[in-house]
Amino acid sequence: MEDIGFPVQGQVSSQALERFERPRNYGPLESFDGHARITGPCGDTMEFWLQVREGRIREAGFTTDGCGPSRAAGSMATELAIGKPLVEAARIEQADVLAGLDGLPKESEPCALLASNTLKAAIEDFRRRKADKSGDCSRCESTTCTSKQRRGDESEEEFRQRQALARRMCQIGYKLLVLSGKGGVGKSTVAANLATVLAQTGKRVGLLDIDVHGPSIPRLMGVETGRVLGTGEELLPVRVSDKLAVMSIGFLLPDRRQAVIWRGPRKHGVIRQFLTDVAWGQLDYLVVDSPPGTGDEPMSIAQLVGSPAGALIVTTPQEVAVSDVRRCVTFCGEVSLPVMGILENMSGLACPKCGERIDLFKRGGGMALAQEMGAPFLGQIPIDPEVVTAGDAGIPLVRDGPQSPAAKAFTDVVRSILARNLDLER
Ligand code: ADP
Repeated sequence: MEDIGFPVQGQVSSQALERFERPRNYGPLESFDGHARITGPCGDTMEFWLQVREGRIREAGFTTDGCGPSRAAGSMATELAIGKPLVEAARIEQADVLAGLDGLPKESEPCALLASNTLKAAIEDFRRRKADKSGDCSRCESTTCTSKQRRGDESEEEFRQRQALARRMCQIGYKLLVLSGKGGVGKSTVAANLATVLAQTGKRVGLLDIDVHGPSIPRLMGVETGRVLGTGEELLPVRVSDKLAVMSIGFLLPDRRQAVIWRGPRKHGVIRQFLTDVAWGQLDYLVVDSPPGTGDEPMSIAQLVGSPAGALIVTTPQEVAVSDVRRCVTFCGEVSLPVMGILENMSGLACPKCGERIDLFKRGGGMALAQEMGAPFLGQIPIDPEVVTAGDAGIPLVRDGPQSPAAKAFTDVVRSILARNLDLER
């Protein structure tokens, strides 16, 4: 028999045991209005989805990565909540879950608390979404935000869309756009690793892949089979950890390996919709992996995200890459996007045999360019075969700590970004 995770089977009530073996309401709801995910002090993570109709919980679903008691508690909390008016469901406590289960072993009682807390958080999420939908920026105290007033050249619908986007972007502390003059310089790798290090430092991070022609973030982050759940009006990003969530335009493509050919205006519309619809919640950073070059998508993103935002430009050291970056810096100036810094990737190789540094390409191009353009230089990432292995395995190199030279370099770059003391207060 599978290890059921209960201390001693005989000590557990039949109510609890039955729900461990066949938890009710297990699994996410395809369509939901409230959602929460909480990791308890025991390390178990529980997730709840709610469907609310006319003030009552019509359906509830849950998942947990914990063992028996956790499943039994989640099951009981959903059973108690279904059919109840929201106000009553919000009053379901640990004691109610325990009573419904005829008790749990003492050491497993916190599972019931995790279940009742996750339920409450999902109800809170429902209320917040409802308030967000009915809100029209009128409660916002900003005196400078241009989204408060309808512009003369704008229809009612355009104004509504602009406000919806502004409300979403308002919940994000800082938008970090990762750009490059051309493809293949490691821009997506940099975006994935930076987002991972930022999350490791305790920041709440979203990683958004906007490359409609070749979205690679799902693969690099190991969430290629990730399923995006939606409420009909919002899309939930795929969670990689408590602090890091990922959304890629690739999740929405019918065939993820196929490039999409969208013309400029259509792409702008898709990107706007995407930015408006993804329910990140409160974030400290949104790291955006833009397609290479200075075309439609970087232009749309730069125009739509609002401030505070900055560009991180990735280059390789060769002269030809460096000249592309010059165009990138000029582009940032044209769209009024501050350049946070230039990062030189694939900068030299540490010989695996003797450790001596080999400069395969000309080195220092990024640094020279940064000086020439008056932009901060953020550092050099060496060529490291582990970067490729990690990318193929869907595990960002930095995830397990900064052991290799490239991982150390990524961590240093994040330190230097954080040291810039970005103004996260809006
Ligand atoms: P881009 O987004 O600019 O097109 P990618 O991030 O997809 O580039 O990287 C292109 C390839 O280069 C990938 O196979 C990646 O693993 C590899 N790569 C990126 N940075 C490094 C590095 N520092 N060392 C070794 N390989 C790297």
